[in-house]
Amino acid sequence: MRGNHSQMFKIGCRALSRRYGTVSATQHIAPPSALQSALEATGPRNTWTREEIREIYDTPLMSLAFAAGTVHQRFHNPSSIQMCTLMNIKTGGCSEDCSYCAQSSRYKTGLKASKMVTVESVLEAARIAKDNGSTRFCMGAAWRDMRGRKTNLKNIKEMVNGVKGMGMEVCVTLGMIDLEQAKELKEAGLTAYNHNVDTSREFYPSVISTRTYDERLQTIQNVRDAGLNVCTGGILGLGEKKNDHVGLIHTVATLPAHPESFPVNTLVPIKGTPLGDNEPSPFDATLRTIAAARMVMPRTIIRLAAGRTTLSEEQQVLCFMAGANAVFTGEKMLTTDCNGWDEDRVIFEKWGLRPMQSFEVEALRELVSSSSPVSPVEKGAEIPAASVTV
Ligand code: SF4
Repeated sequence: MRGNHSQMFKIGCRALSRRYGTVSATQHIAPPSALQSALEATGPRNTWTREEIREIYDTPLMSLAFAAGTVHQRFHNPSSIQMCTLMNIKTGGCSEDCSYCAQSSRYKTGLKASKMVTVESVLEAARIAKDNGSTRFCMGAAWRDMRGRKTNLKNIKEMVNGVKGMGMEVCVTLGMIDLEQAKELKEAGLTAYNHNVDTSREFYPSVISTRTYDERLQTIQNVRDAGLNVCTGGILGLGEKKNDHVGLIHTVATLPAHPESFPVNTLVPIKGTPLGDNEPSPFDATLRTIAAARMVMPRTIIRLAAGRTTLSEEQQVLCFMAGANAVFTGEKMLTTDCNGWDEDRVIFEKWGLRPMQSFEVEALRELVSSSSPVSPVEKGAEIPAASVTV
């Protein structure tokens, strides 16, 4: 792929030179555009400026999607989509005021709060998810943070340990955590911790007032310092502008290390919340955000998350072509509806996709770093058979 691009670039230069004459030594040669720089990258970088990301984000959409597809093929197996199932292990009654959330106790959404579910019920749900093809199991609890939750933490560690024992990747989203709690979860076998930044730093205070953007970033740092994979992304359709999508991508693409997972949610408006009457976020914004994120975070798994039920099959496939490579699937996604396993099976079969194996991306990353920065896909190399079933 990269060879093709440089070949095309040379042909383009020859054509320009024929048309306009040879460029003289005194003339300046323009530096490569941000898009070109992303296209030619051999690995992730976290020095993106907001202007560069804006330039990429504003690329005509079809060109952006094609470029993102090129990067995606270089760094990932484009046929491989991670199937994750997300279970709510403690519903409602949350003290926070996230203005999109059905589980905040501040809004009258009709949702009944409940205590934490049992370890057995989680393991049973994980077993069902695994039997249906999910290889990553995520658990979410509706509360502000883990402070003073010793018994909860003990039970969650048992859940993590049990799910990991089934050979699945395990992720949790439990609000803010400190370094010690993150380390305990890592020891219990946790693969990744989700904590979204939601939107740009500037727009964030319009959405949540009970915790700051920097508190979110601190939890992400704690997760990273504990040696866990980071899952952090955003929500489109909160009333933000496109500049906030650029800001969101800029925040995560300039973290000390890129998150391993970047979920792109679109708001599912919930009656009773402050954003319950929001207009749906347009599809082109979803596609543009996915494609721009793929350009600047080439190795990250990009997750088509909440709101997928509103997308047609073809829209989902466009997202996969532009760099998305994970979905949530199952019966529910926290409190909202979710595309089911049967539906995904039909789409996968029709479009030549297959579920990603557990820890497949880790195996791919190791193979890449131990050989060369060029992807195994480009080199035609095989991913170890133990980690992939084609
Ligand atoms: S998003 Fe999480 S922290 Fe915010 S109100 Fe909902 S459950 Fe609470």
